[in-house]
Amino acid sequence: MSSEYEQLLDNLYEKLPKKQTHSERFEIPRLESFVEGNRTIVKNFKAVCDKLRRDPVLVMKYFVKKLAVPSEIQGERLVLQRKLTEDVINKRLDEFVNNYVICKECKRPDTHIEDAGRGTKMLVCESCGAKSTVKE
Ligand SMILES: [Zn+2]
Repeated sequence: MSSEYEQLLDNLYEKLPKKQTHSERFEIPRLESFVEGNRTIVKNFKAVCDKLRRDPVLVMKYFVKKLAVPSEIQGERLVLQRKLTEDVINKRLDEFVNNYVICKECKRPDTHIEDAGRGTKMLVCESCGAKSTVKE
C-alpha cells in the first residue's frame, strides 16, 4: 500500500467529526462463505482485507497455517480446499485481527505491519505509536 494512499486515509479521518472515544468500537468485518463441492469459497475476502488494510496474501497464509488447509486467492475470493463453516472462518479472522490489526495499547485498528527482520513482524500503531511483536 502506498504512503500516498495512507496519507489520503489520514486526511479523511481528520475531516470526520470527532466522536467520543468510548462509543467508538472497531467492528471486525465478517467474511461471507459458501461450500462448493469439497471447497469453501469466501466471497468477500479481498473486500474484508481492504477494510483491515492488510495484504490478502498475509491473511491467506494465516488461514492456511491455522486451519491446515491449502487455499488460493482467486480474484476477490479465497478458495479453501475443505468444507468449513462461516463460523470457523470468522473465528480465525477474529484471531488474525487481534494479533495483526488491533493495537495492544489503545485497542484501535489504525496500525500497520513492519518487517523487523528474521521473520519477525512488528505491529505499529498510527494512533498512539505503540509497537509490539506480532504473535503468529
Ligand atoms: Zn495504539
